[in-house]
Amino acid sequence: MSKQKKDISQAAAAEVLHDSDFADYDSKRKNRSRYMSLGSEGRRRQRVLIHGAAFVITVDDKEKLQLWPDHSVYIVNGKIKEVFPADKGRIPVSDIDLIYDASKRGGIIISPGFVNAHSHPPMYLLRSSMMLDKGNVVEQVAKMARLEGKMTDEDFFLGALGDFTEEQKNGITTTLSHYGVFDPVEEAAKASQQNVINAISAVSNSHPENTPALVEKILRRKNSYFTKPAIAVHYLHKASPAQLAKIKQLVKKHRVLFTMHAAESEEWVQENVEKFGERTVETLERLGLASSQVLLSHCVHLSGREIDLIKKYKIGVVHLPTSNKLHKSGEFDFVEFVKRGAADQVCLGTDSVISKNSLDLLSEALQTRITHLHKHRVLYEDLFRMVTSQAAKILKLGKVGKILPGYQADIAFWKLKDRGFLPYNEKEPLSLVGNMITHGGRNIRDLMIKGEFIISNRVHNLVNESALLVKLQEAHMALRKRIGK
Ligand SMILES: [Zn+2]
Repeated sequence: MSKQKKDISQAAAAEVLHDSDFADYDSKRKNRSRYMSLGSEGRRRQRVLIHGAAFVITVDDKEKLQLWPDHSVYIVNGKIKEVFPADKGRIPVSDIDLIYDASKRGGIIISPGFVNAHSHPPMYLLRSSMMLDKGNVVEQVAKMARLEGKMTDEDFFLGALGDFTEEQKNGITTTLSHYGVFDPVEEAAKASQQNVINAISAVSNSHPENTPALVEKILRRKNSYFTKPAIAVHYLHKASPAQLAKIKQLVKKHRVLFTMHAAESEEWVQENVEKFGERTVETLERLGLASSQVLLSHCVHLSGREIDLIKKYKIGVVHLPTSNKLHKSGEFDFVEFVKRGAADQVCLGTDSVISKNSLDLLSEALQTRITHLHKHRVLYEDLFRMVTSQAAKILKLGKVGKILPGYQADIAFWKLKDRGFLPYNEKEPLSLVGNMITHGGRNIRDLMIKGEFIISNRVHNLVNESALLVKLQEAHMALRKRIGK
């Protein structure tokens, strides 16, 4: 895999990426390693056997949650080829380049890598710029926006890299980035090998130079990028009818996702009513924009009719309960989504570090459970679907989000003999999924994206995490200095 050390991020990347390549990951923490290379040195490991995982947790092809004990997974060229009981199927040694032993020392649980449907990665650099302790939230948001306005391309790149690598440690392998810049997010995705939907704002407060024409330029070259381009607007009512007509044409022509914040507060809903004479989802319908290619974040203040429209047009919804709580936005009406048959169109996201201080989806799943418990119990199996297969379907990722033959090999490796997993009821292993979520966030041991180990033995193979953190700290303080704070 080649290093990305060009353009905007050249200097920054050179300092935070490892010199070595994938070839040496089995030498790290050698005595604790689970890796055994069979291929010749330096050759890419295209055929990987994950041997004897204590459990494979996945949603199956009938959308049912499964926990298969003592299973192996065989991966070829980034795709899952076979999933089988460890004591049954045999793969000839000559067909394996790398074995990962998931059976020893208490065993490893594997799950699909999680899918984060809403984030603002470059804002990672602003962590702690908004201390929700003393002071007034409105003033703090204004201060934060001033800092954001002074960020450079290198800052955006470092922030996004910090965000993606933190997500990876928490088992997330796909991220939808909603932001005003494209290239720095593209570079950070390449450097960390994170799967990224790169939704660039066509109309943006923080980046007033962005236009639908700029987005069109990117979409014309959409197959030449590492990330998957998409279109964003901050809020629908920030765009003019002419801009929305152009966006509609681009969504149709390029078959890309179109995402926006929607009904986060009653105030924003009223601004939409003032501008368009109706509520957000009604505007989408009237303008011919309502479709399964649309993804709405927050959706706290929707009318029953709007939820019916979401159902009718199969619009995707990202639920962000931690963000809603911190910003006092109100409470997402999960019960209405269940009643109106649209609950399977809901997935979860992290938002930025300004709205949730750990970029992880297990704690967001727990937050979802707790937030709605007084009215409705969101089952653990449903929460697990919301961060894997259901999210992949909503984001139109194709064969992503399950550990089944034919699926992309995006896999998170979790140590079973760990706080929070144990003890569990061996006669009812489904209780492990409950344990996984109720314990809140946890770090993975290893992480695979498209068949390549990105993290091995808890060490990132591409990004020097220690150097990155130092760099982020320096960039953060330099940014404060630029605005004199
Ligand atoms: Zn957001």
